[in-house]
Amino acid sequence: MGKLVIVGTVAFDAIETPFGKTDKILGGAATFIGLAASQFEVDSAVVSVVGGDFPNEYLELLESKSMDISGVEVVPHGKTFFWSGRYHNDMNSRDTLATELNVLADFKPVVPENFKDADYVMLGNLHPNVQLGVLEQMEKKPKLVVLDTMNFWMDNTWDELMEVIKKVDVITINDEEARQLTGEHSLKVAARKIQEMGPTYVVIKKGEHGALLFNGGNAFFAPALPLEEVFDPTGAGDTFAGGFIGYLASVDNVTFESMKNAIIYGSTLASFCVEKFGTERMKHLSANEVRKRLQEFKKLTQFEIELT
Ligand code: AMP
Repeated sequence: MGKLVIVGTVAFDAIETPFGKTDKILGGAATFIGLAASQFEVDSAVVSVVGGDFPNEYLELLESKSMDISGVEVVPHGKTFFWSGRYHNDMNSRDTLATELNVLADFKPVVPENFKDADYVMLGNLHPNVQLGVLEQMEKKPKLVVLDTMNFWMDNTWDELMEVIKKVDVITINDEEARQLTGEHSLKVAARKIQEMGPTYVVIKKGEHGALLFNGGNAFFAPALPLEEVFDPTGAGDTFAGGFIGYLASVDNVTFESMKNAIIYGSTLASFCVEKFGTERMKHLSANEVRKRLQEFKKLTQFEIELT
């Protein structure tokens, strides 16, 4: 089992979907990543920042899911990062209504001393300089660094993003973002170009259409589990990433074969995340429920064709 450092936003989200609307609720990339990774027996630490307006009970929730939160800075007179989004009827696309960086604007990450030798680092979606700041504090080269990012950072901090992309082993990105990053429509070509930028593994998430893994000439595809109801897709990408790296850290193995399983775990956990608003579903997810869904996943994707 490897130690895991997670950097990302711990946030307030306000979400509108065709099913309803929330006030400010708990969100943030690191929150979803940490909740997903907590399904595995991994020592994880969250590096982030919140304002004095952030409820203690939210921090306690992260702690209760066995995350070390000593790297979550609280700025007493600052305001917590706030994101608001509205989903379209297809639930696959959304408009960002607000991104208020607040305390994130001046954040200098500090990796807890006892996590500086961690073998697994998840650079969740946030300012690429903060992601770089975390990498620079690692005392030895981690076995695996996974990067997640989004169009916001491509639009606003391109050069810094290119710096961090050079230094990671895996990037998880959605299809639109892969196209924006490379200017290529074909995901296969985009994945090849992204590998030339640095990461040896490229994971392209396609929402309800599953996820692709590329590594040199190898490729793997996993569908998303067909669900009767998608209530709120917020955090699905982060949950996927948390499941992906949480699994790899728990088996402490970073081969292409174990990454295939990591994708299945990521997809399975993401399928729970979307069933309720925000973190509601992930907060109460049991190992038994996960096991059952993995069985469904296996049934859905396994077939035997005799090839002569
Ligand atoms: P996902 O649905 O997986 O893309 O992630 C949604 C989460 O990302 C929300 O909980 C937001 O708080 C967070 N988020 C949205 N925009 C940003 C941003 N520009 N930087 C960092 N985190 C963000």
